[in-house]
Formats: sequence, structure tokens, C-alpha cells
Amino acid sequence: MLINADFHIHSPFSGGTASRIDLKKIAMAAKKKGLHVVGSGDCLHPVWQNELKKYLVGDKIVVDGVHFILSCEVEDKNRVHHLLLFPDFYSANAFKEGIKKYSPDIEDEGRPKVMLEGGEILDVAKEVNALIGAAHAFTPWTSLYAYFDSLLEYYGGRPHFIELGLSADSDYADRIKELQDIPFLSNSDAHSYSPHRLGREFNRLEVNEISWDEIRKAILNGGIKANVGFPPEKGKYNRTACSWCHRQYEKDEAAKIGWRCFCGGVIKKGVRDRINELASYEKPIHPPFRPPYIHLIPLAEIIAESLGKDTRNGIVAKRWRELMKLGSEIEVLLDIDMEKIKKVTPLAIAEAIEAFRRGRIKIIPGGGGKYGEIVIT
Ligand SMILES: [Zn+2]
Ligand SMILES: [Zn+2]
Repeated sequence: MLINADFHIHSPFSGGTASRIDLKKIAMAAKKKGLHVVGSGDCLHPVWQNELKKYLVGDKIVVDGVHFILSCEVEDKNRVHHLLLFPDFYSANAFKEGIKKYSPDIEDEGRPKVMLEGGEILDVAKEVNALIGAAHAFTPWTSLYAYFDSLLEYYGGRPHFIELGLSADSDYADRIKELQDIPFLSNSDAHSYSPHRLGREFNRLEVNEISWDEIRKAILNGGIKANVGFPPEKGKYNRTACSWCHRQYEKDEAAKIGWRCFCGGVIKKGVRDRINELASYEKPIHPPFRPPYIHLIPLAEIIAESLGKDTRNGIVAKRWRELMKLGSEIEVLLDIDMEKIKKVTPLAIAEAIEAFRRGRIKIIPGGGGKYGEIVIT
């Protein structure tokens, strides 16, 4: 069977997270989105861990039909972020024991700081049978390639995957030779369960059943059948741009003025430019096991754009809920008959969905922390 899984989200115990977030709400939002599996996020945090344990059914965590896989993100001593997936609480807690004395905030912070090298964290992860990889691997801060030129050298070994992040896709990452046999994950890194955050990126996996063993096998042995997510230009670090005023720069131009914007802000190197620096190939070379990358835009954004409103506007939520009566968001975006869609939503929205399906949505690239914007043509 094919399942949709978003492995990287955060609990209320990570900085910058909506405090009302809870497992029931995440499960409800996941179902509407069409996700079968969600990473728990922050699974080393004692309070969040207790929340998760309430939903243990045998060795699985299931909330209203949605499966949760134990996951967390940690920041190492070089400020590089790592994503981890665990088979069970035993493994997660063994990992926690292994890193605890190097962490100043592991009992309080959903995404703890760990004063170890990436390779040392990789070793502990492998000892407890967790899967580990570089989180949002190319973003201009708190990512591996932001500060280092080689993933394999940095880890001193092979991680199980990398996470592409919102500003990159497989065409970007497969220009880098050392990534040729590394699986790619595409996850939302959502800090809220709203429909334009949760599941904005996910992975489609082929499994026999929803279990840790099957998911692990799928990730490691070519069972990822699609990566689904933003067109890279939609990501907020795609282009080189000022982190205050978001003015975009050519890389050389930014270097010439010492990476300081005219407004005084720091200019952040965009993922597109960073990939060009790292690339071994002019054009992407996809290994045979690499699945297609399907570009998706959150339905709430398509609705908002077609109505000329902000995604947080009440009417956008109302129109989104009306469409959800037809099926999950993924089905509405990709599969459901246009005639049915036209019956439940204003024509402007139906036309925007049709435009999306025909690839007639243009993106004004994001950068410096500002998301790319969509334009329906
Ligand atoms: Zn992160
Ligand atoms: Zn600026």
C-alpha cells in the first residue's frame, strides 16, 4: 500500500510553536490533508512524551486513525540540525541517555541543543537503531551545508537520509555527487497544524503495513515512491536576500558589499546559490532508485490567492472546509473531478485549482526568510 508521511513537525515545546497544538488536533488536520503517518516531533521532551504514551496501542501510537512515529530534531555544537526517527520509546530514551550530559536544555526544550559533533550524534543514533539525517540540509542557517561543504566528511560516516527542506527539491540535491546514494526526505517542519503548514511537504512510501519496520525499510531500500512538496522557489530561503527587508541579491553582488544590506540587515545566501557552489554536475543526475518530486502548493494558499485574501482570513478557512467535504486536500488538489469541485466552491477557486493542475501557477521566488508568492496566470 502507498502511504503519505510527514516525519518532521514540532510540539508546543519548541520555540516558535503554536501553544494550542495537541495530538488530537494534529491527527485531525493530518487526516484532512491525506497524511497517514506523522512524525511526533520533540519526542525526547518529558511532557510531550507523556502525551504520546496516552495513545499507545500495542507498540504503535495511533490517534484517531493517524499513526505517529517517534521523531525529534536536535541542534549540535556547530548549530547543525539533525532529524531523528526512533523505533520505540526505549530507543528514544536510550538516545536521550546517551546525549543528556552534553545538553543544557534537554528537559525543557523540544528541539534540544547537544554539545557534540554531528558524527558523535550519528554514532549514538546508530547504537540505538534510530534513523538520522541532516535536517533542511541546505538552508542558510542551522543546516549542515550552510556551514560545511561535505555531508560525508562532516558525519565521518553515512547518515540514513537527508531532508531537502522547503527551498530545495531532488533536481537541486541530485547535482551533488556525494548524495547520489542517500535517500531524500521531504517534510513540512511544521510549527502549527494549520492546513498551509502541516503536510506542506511529505513522502509517499510503499509499505505492507504501517509499522516501524516497514517504514524503516521503505526509507532505506528504495520504498520512497515520491517526494511531494513546494516548488523550491516557494521556500523562504530559495534566493539570496536580506533577512530584514528581503531585498534579493545576486551572490557576487552580496559578496561585494560584505553580505550587509543597504538597510543594515544581514544577507543570507539562498539555497539555489548554495547548490550551485556545491554542485558536481551542471544538470541533476538522478540515481535509478530516486523517486519523482511532485510539486504541490497548499490548497489554502491557492484559495487565498484566488480571492485576493491572506491565508489567515476566515473566508479562506471556510472555503477550505467546504472543499474538504469532497476528500482530503491532496485529493482535491490532484484527483477529484473538476465538475464536483465547481459544485461546492466559487468559480474563481475552481479555476485556480484547475490552473494549478495545468501548471499555470507562477512563483515569485522567496528569500531571506520570506516565502515565495504564488501568482495564478
Ligand atoms: Zn531545524
Ligand atoms: Zn535589507
